[in-house]
Parts: sequence; structure tokens; C-alpha cells
Amino acid sequence: MNLIDYQTKHFPTWCPGCGDFGIWGALKASFVRMNWQPHEFVIVFGIGCSGNMADFLKCCGFHSLHGRAIPNAVGIKTANHKLPVICVVGDGDCYGEGGNHLIHAARGNHDLTVVVHDNRVYGLTTGQVAPTASTGFKSKSTPAGIIEKPFNPLALAISQGATLVAQGFAGDIPHLTDLLVKAYQHRGFALVNVLQPCVTFNKVNTYLYYRQNTYKLDDSYDPTNKIEALKKAVDNEKIPLGIIYQENRPTYQASLSQLSEKSLVEQGVQLKDISVFYPDFR
Ligand code: SF4
Ligand code: MG
Repeated sequence: MNLIDYQTKHFPTWCPGCGDFGIWGALKASFVRMNWQPHEFVIVFGIGCSGNMADFLKCCGFHSLHGRAIPNAVGIKTANHKLPVICVVGDGDCYGEGGNHLIHAARGNHDLTVVVHDNRVYGLTTGQVAPTASTGFKSKSTPAGIIEKPFNPLALAISQGATLVAQGFAGDIPHLTDLLVKAYQHRGFALVNVLQPCVTFNKVNTYLYYRQNTYKLDDSYDPTNKIEALKKAVDNEKIPLGIIYQENRPTYQASLSQLSEKSLVEQGVQLKDISVFYPDFR
């Protein structure tokens, strides 16, 4: 497979320099590494600048409602748990509107990879503050600065049962590609939070900001140590990049005896079969 195999006829409409381009490139490179044909995996997109990628990636794609990518992905995965299922979402989308779904998919260890474009603003609706913004961040919705503490996706995901939690940077495509491949290869709920500059509406968290304030975890770091992972997740001084936490635990689908031999689609379950349990169902 080649990068061009995942190209549609539409070129992205993102602002020149947007970090979404880097994530788009890393996703395509990761699909090449997995040697997946476009029909062999599913991406569920959220709503936002990130979700617009639904038009720019050739794949089995589903453009869902705002904040609802994860429950759609859970449904797809439950119907055919042999299919790789990925969510491509934004921080406002996944951590704001969809935060509830993130928690419950993590604790269920649903076998998904959730890739979050974390630019700390709502870019598509022109720059309102999003949950991951630092306290005091000024935007058109918070002209005097946001009062709340920032949402911490890494700490939340680790504490609620996600079995792989990683962080990448849209300005480092090779490193992000490696993280995505490891997330696909992991069995269980994988969150890949991607630090993504929004060059139009976030003048604080720029490419330079991330280059000066991030570092890569090296081989001496043990991602299976949950306490150390939580310490990394809450470190506000230097921002870690890499696999922050990983553990092996049975996935939700692997724990269902009904799916032990065949997926639901292989079993040929029809809507009419439901009437056995619900006679009034039409
Ligand atoms: Fe990217 Fe921000 Fe422009 Fe959206 S508004 S395309 S996130 S730079
Ligand atoms: Mg955003």
C-alpha cells in the first residue's frame, strides 16, 4: 500500500499550517505500515475541523454526530469485532460533548483506537475555548480568560481503565506514526492524544511552544507502572510524548461468550431474530 491509496479527490480545506495536516499524514503512513486496504478498517469521525477529514481519507468512514463518535464505534465493533475501528475526533468533541462516552468506553476496555486532535479550542466554530485549554486562556468565549482548570485526558483515561494511553505531536509525523501503529496493535481501549497547533485561533500553544515544552519518553521509562504513568500525566512542567501507560486486560468483546466463535455479522443475526425476545418488536 502507498500513501496515495488513502487519498480522495478532495484536498483538505484546513488553514495553511494547521496541525491537522500532520495528523492526516501520520494516519495515512500508519495505514501503509499496517498494510490495510481502505475497506479493511473503519474510521468514525466526530464533528469539527478534525472530523472534516472524513472527506479527505479514503476508508470505510462514518461521519457521526458531535461528541458521538465513540458510541458509534462501539456499535460497529460489537457487530464485527474482527474489524479494526478507529475514532478521529477533536478535543471539544471527545472531551466536552463526548466526555461521558470516553469514560465508559475506557472502563469497558472496548477494542478501539481513539485519536484526538487536541488544539485546546473549538476551531470549526471559530475559536471558542475547549476543555483542555490552560486556566486563563483568552478566547472569544472567554475574553477575560477561562476560569476552570484544564481537563486532563491522560490522567482520566488511565484512571478509568484505558489499557493504552499515548500522547503525540502533530509536528512530529514519524513519532506519531509509530504511536498509531502501536495503538492499532494493542488489544483494548487505546487513547492517542495528539497535541495539535491551531494556527488561526490558538496563538499560545504553537509549534514552537510544543517544541520547547515536550520531551520524548525513552526506553528507561516503564509504561506498565500505573503510578508513574499518572505522575507523567499530571506533570504540568514538561509534557511527555510516547506511550504513557499500557496494560493487558481482556477486551469487552473478548469477554462476551456470544462472540467467542463468530462475530455477529458472521452469525447472520437479523432484525427479525430480535422478535424472539421482544414479540412486539417490528
Ligand atoms: Fe486548523 Fe484551527 Fe484552521 Fe481549524 S481553525 S483548520 S484547527 S488552524
Ligand atoms: Mg479542538
